[in-house]
Amino acid sequence: MQTNWAGNLTFSAAEVRRPATVAELRALVAGARRAKALGSGHSFSDAADTDGTLLDVGALPAEIDIDTAARTVRVAAGVRYADLAAHLHAHGFALPNMASLPHISVAGSVATGTHGSGDANGSLGTAVTALDLVTADGSLRTLSRAADGDTFDGAVVALGALGVVTHLTLDLRPDFAVRQQVRTGLELADALAHFDAITSAAYSVSLFTDWRAPRFTQVWLKQLADAPAADFPWAGPATAKLHPVPGVDPVHCTEQFDTPGPWHERLPHFRPGFTPSSGEELQSEYLVPRAHATAALTALDALRETVAPVLQICEVRTVAADRLWLSPAYGRDTVGLHFTWVADTEAVRPVLGAVEAALAPYEPRPHWGKLFTTEPAQVRARYPRMDDFRALVAATDPAGTFSNAFLDRMLRA
Ligand SMILES: Cc1cc2nc3c(=O)[nH]c(=O)nc-3n(C[C@H](O)[C@H](O)[C@H](O)COP(=O)(O)OP(=O)(O)OC[C@H]3O[C@@H](n4cnc5c(N)ncnc54)[C@H](O)[C@@H]3O)c2cc1C
Repeated sequence: MQTNWAGNLTFSAAEVRRPATVAELRALVAGARRAKALGSGHSFSDAADTDGTLLDVGALPAEIDIDTAARTVRVAAGVRYADLAAHLHAHGFALPNMASLPHISVAGSVATGTHGSGDANGSLGTAVTALDLVTADGSLRTLSRAADGDTFDGAVVALGALGVVTHLTLDLRPDFAVRQQVRTGLELADALAHFDAITSAAYSVSLFTDWRAPRFTQVWLKQLADAPAADFPWAGPATAKLHPVPGVDPVHCTEQFDTPGPWHERLPHFRPGFTPSSGEELQSEYLVPRAHATAALTALDALRETVAPVLQICEVRTVAADRLWLSPAYGRDTVGLHFTWVADTEAVRPVLGAVEAALAPYEPRPHWGKLFTTEPAQVRARYPRMDDFRALVAATDPAGTFSNAFLDRMLRA
């Protein structure tokens, strides 16, 4: 049976279908008791699981249509960012930001609130201006920022709960170049004292720590190629190319040493064609209001002895506030506290509980696509538009065709 990328989840679907046309997809949805869209399967949570028909959208025609005048692109749901980005760059366009890996599908990434880093960069869903959706009766509906306003903000990060997205339209910007520099050995005390200066030192900044000491082992600075060099007195430049996970070959990583290159070959940490991250892992991430960043980091520092034994690497990133109801960055400038764990669910699960308890005072919203054990009622309470989202789901999918165990827990339990 099919598993997710990490192999920690075997889908419980009765059948997996890979429709090759939108018409075929619509017929499959219309005939299904329960159905769920699957993107590239990179989520660690059971967000994409179903006991009905799993609809892998990766076989739909990989359309990428740029509207030069409107400066938008209409892209098929299953297209991966690697392919989209290469096409956009070849035509002189860019996306504002990317996640750490380009291997993930556009629709699946947007549906969980996937993000990169950068004080001024919103989550990937903030680029979406319209989406085409197959709803439970098999009909095709278009929702757009321009025509549907507030409802549209509820439909972008939607965990597949409203239907199967077939296409998304994304805002573009002109192609741009980025250079990436890795610095090593940032003391936690310096990071706490200068947090705002550090995260604003480049277009996109990531801090990595193994929590074996009160220190960030690496700082990745992704700077616009034409911007002045970052003033960064807190950590010196690396002398060799580095992978954030200790011991993993840096050949998997995008170019470093300040060499300018296209946005899509610098903004992700990992290169297409290579295994991203460590490959043998579980992941969690908790997104806290930026205002709580230093308090939350101090709380994690106090947990070092619990966290470090099951941790491969922890990454701290920033995300600009957005208006998407279920985005973990909804309504607040955000700091993402990400954990790449060892691939051992039994060993990791109690540590998730400890991390969640330590972060609880700081209103953490767990990443929908990663692992968490937070009580659903607590998660719901951290989303001001949750009741509106539940009403939207009830109105759009009254029979619960697109519901699954994950949504039953998160929206109803
Ligand atoms: C190595 C690694 C690195 C990662 N790095 C980052 C990172 O830098 N930042 C970050 O935020 N996250 C990161 N993630 C998490 C990942 O981005 C999310 O889990 C993302 O949702 C994966 O996209 P996917 O296409 O694999 O979606 P899937 O896991 O296939 O699906 C996720 C959700 O989207 C829904 N969905 C998928 N396709 C559609 C569709 N066509 N219509 C409607 N709903 C749909 C599914 O039903 C499910 O609810 C990482 C994951 C891995 C494995």
